[in-house]
Amino acid sequence: MISHVNEYDTPECKTLAETAKKSIRTPASLGLDRCIQCGACTASCPAARFTDYSPRQIVKKVLENDRSVLESEMIWSCFYCYSCNLRCPRNNSPVTIVQVLRQMAINEGIGVEKLAYFLEIGEYLAENGASKIPGPGAKNMERDLGERWISFKKNLESIRDELGLSSKDIRNTHGEVQTILEATGYFEREKWIKAKIQEKLLHQLLENQYIKRENRSGDFGFENDRRYPGQPAFII
Ligand code: SF4
Ligand code: SF4
Repeated sequence: MISHVNEYDTPECKTLAETAKKSIRTPASLGLDRCIQCGACTASCPAARFTDYSPRQIVKKVLENDRSVLESEMIWSCFYCYSCNLRCPRNNSPVTIVQVLRQMAINEGIGVEKLAYFLEIGEYLAENGASKIPGPGAKNMERDLGERWISFKKNLESIRDELGLSSKDIRNTHGEVQTILEATGYFEREKWIKAKIQEKLLHQLLENQYIKRENRSGDFGFENDRRYPGQPAFII
């Protein structure tokens, strides 16, 4: 098992379905094997409405033990609203399965760069004992929710005053949050994630340089091709 990977979260099993069912995240009542591919999960999924994402297909791939699903961008489209969990007539939970798949992908270094967005939340939590919306997320909210949300954000202090709330919502945790994060191995895991992201970015950089070089040699290849245009004549 890779260091800082929780073997209870993604136990090593023969199939994806077994791993999903044995993960500590998964309730014993999970109806993965009872899935009838009705598509109610996809029909109720907000992410599926705007993208090619399909929780039904994710479940199908898991049942077929198709490990290519770990490489798929699809598993990163879910935002844990749990509508699929609520609507499934067979007590299956595509959202839980997606969580296990993401963890498996991360363990294998696939998609680990997606975690960069969330690291800010962990850092802020450790420092202030409270959660926050990461910078890029706040920008997206400004774009999606518009003026009303921006003015709400600007006037947050006065709104809090009006509601009789303290001006600061950050609690003094007396170091308790840090203690919990330390005891649960969060900081070690954070270090591991950062190193993996660096490794991946470096790999991508080298790959891009290699592709550029390939393209250049491709130009020479084109020159060569021009000396032999078309198929040789067919001689009877
Ligand atoms: S709603 Fe449930 S049974 Fe229907 S396809 Fe989705 S997971 Fe399967
Ligand atoms: S939890 Fe994920 S898969 Fe389920 S409905 Fe919401 S976005 Fe879709």
